Amino acid sequence: MRKTLFLALLSLATALGAQTSIATNSPTPLSERVVQYTIDAQIDPVKHTVDASETLAYRNLTGQRLTSFPFHLYLNAFQPQSTFARETAESGGFREVEREYPEHRRGEIRIASITADGFGDLTSAQRFTAPDDGNAADHTVMEVPLPHPLEPGETITFHIAFQDKFPESIARNGYKRDFMMGGQWFPKVGVFWHGVWNCHQYHATTEFFSDFGVYNVKLTVPENYTVGTTGVSTGIIHSGGRNTMSFYAEDVHDFAWAASPHFSETTETYVSAMGPVRIRVLALKSHPQAGPRYAAILRQTMAKFEQWYGPYPYKQITVIDPEPGSAMEGMEYPTLITGGTDWWEPSWLHLLEVTAEHEFGHQYWYGMVATNEFEEAWLDEGINSYTEVKVIESLFGKDKGILGGTYANAGERDLQRYEYTLVPDYDPMTRFAYKFRDERSYGGVTYGKTATTLLTLEGMIGEGTMREAVHQYFTKYRFKHPTTDDFLLEIEKAAIANNRVSNSPAYVTVGAPFTGSGVDASKGPVDSAPALRFYFHQAIYDTAILDYAVDSVTTQPVQWWKPEPEDPKKTDYLNTVVVHRKGDFILPVSVEVAFDDGTRTRVWWNGKDRWQRFTFQKHGVKVISAEVDPDHIVVLDKDRFNNSYQVTPHGSAARKLTAIILFLEQCLSQVATWIV
Ligand SMILES: [Zn+2]
Repeated sequence: MRKTLFLALLSLATALGAQTSIATNSPTPLSERVVQYTIDAQIDPVKHTVDASETLAYRNLTGQRLTSFPFHLYLNAFQPQSTFARETAESGGFREVEREYPEHRRGEIRIASITADGFGDLTSAQRFTAPDDGNAADHTVMEVPLPHPLEPGETITFHIAFQDKFPESIARNGYKRDFMMGGQWFPKVGVFWHGVWNCHQYHATTEFFSDFGVYNVKLTVPENYTVGTTGVSTGIIHSGGRNTMSFYAEDVHDFAWAASPHFSETTETYVSAMGPVRIRVLALKSHPQAGPRYAAILRQTMAKFEQWYGPYPYKQITVIDPEPGSAMEGMEYPTLITGGTDWWEPSWLHLLEVTAEHEFGHQYWYGMVATNEFEEAWLDEGINSYTEVKVIESLFGKDKGILGGTYANAGERDLQRYEYTLVPDYDPMTRFAYKFRDERSYGGVTYGKTATTLLTLEGMIGEGTMREAVHQYFTKYRFKHPTTDDFLLEIEKAAIANNRVSNSPAYVTVGAPFTGSGVDASKGPVDSAPALRFYFHQAIYDTAILDYAVDSVTTQPVQWWKPEPEDPKKTDYLNTVVVHRKGDFILPVSVEVAFDDGTRTRVWWNGKDRWQRFTFQKHGVKVISAEVDPDHIVVLDKDRFNNSYQVTPHGSAARKLTAIILFLEQCLSQVATWIV
């Protein structure tokens, strides 16, 4: 309904001759354009340098007088004394030369001058700050105090001259052979957010956070270079063996580029509900299969995102295939992503497709829904890992996400789950990215645990409800900076609207037939936490471990003191199942009990006590097995081997197939560590 109306208005606006945008398929601005960057950059791929001038117009929409401006200088992270390098060394990086920081790994961004119209020359006022850890030698944040305040509603225009020296890539940007990746390459202003400037240092685990705006960028490169960028191309001038190319991007919060003399181009068009989208793939000539493969997966992924969450509004998406082994693979920027291919990769190993899907997903969770990646990384990487599972499963099948081979299949959800089970529960999902115990914990929790938590939630409230919630979240918060609360509230709203949980104090029982009120009628209202908060508190804000087990399954005659008659069918049996909550995570669960006459029964447990005994008195019937969470909804259960228990014909207990499953899980966790 809403979409139809929107499209009608869109065509009406077009018919009336309304100004259409250059880089989006929307006739009107999509974001509150806080910043406007104009950059003119000379790129030297031999020296790996950039010499540039930047004009930044910043609109003060904060409602406050601003007395200083912080800028990110990300390239200064690639120096031995930086916080980024210190943290990377601590977690085992930079080992190629023992106790030495190689010169070619050094990166730098130097501000030659900074002035502002009406504020004078600010060059000598600039100073480095380290708001996160106080490391005075870290130069990734620069603060520029103003001689007098910028009033609310006014615009300040900075003019900055800067020089970059790119490192041989360590993470995300830099050079590799003659390939150059311009990510985080220019002085970028922080975000005034929740009443203060938000401008974190660059850390080993952190990504980015910026305001939306407009970018006019000119890049001058040797004429044998092909360039891919954020936004769209608006012109080219040839002069003296060099090309000066102009690019324009709007309603984005960053601008990235990649340049190589070895790109070959593949283009395709995807027609979204808002208009045509050009898929431009720049793949290395040594990877001839990569172009069509990237284009195909992009088209499929874009269609799924449009169908489930909303259309991609930009006119172009550019895919860069970087030099192998460059540490620049699998990265997202607005309307530009990097993939990653290796010559040895067989086509049934869908790493290229999964990487491209993941990075395209970031156009939604980061690109448009621009959460603070320093502080709430689970909202971009985690939600993106969840939608990755949904899209990859729908495209390749539930068990064939990564390994679509004849001998080995591995589903996306399994890989996310193993990533989560591999790390100890040191850190909650909501922890600031740079405050995680280490990079492993950050990765396992932010990607794997989040995906697993959201898949479990989907099992509880239903796939349709979850999709509606994520769609609402996207629609409401695209081109904004939402928080954890905003996301969780949309889930609760959708769950209540679909009658999946009650708005009154209630709890849901996983796998229980839904009563409509959200309360398991047989146990009564147990939890005073409203709606889904009981789950969110434990899974998202806490580090509680979820592990339910069937401890024992036993049978004995009711009249145990009498000799058992010849015909067991004439004996009354007391069948007993003991279920154990081994972790501190409390979640109501269901238990399925199977008997030797072929019948099955389900019981529900609020999971509050440490353990629960269920007894079944049956005439001539013995229990043969029991399984907690029989529908396999609670993927967040850390140990699934102890979830079922089977009695053998000899009366001793055996864990069915445990050895084989354990072996498979080990293989899969190996795969999971490769692709993290
Ligand atoms: Zn990601």
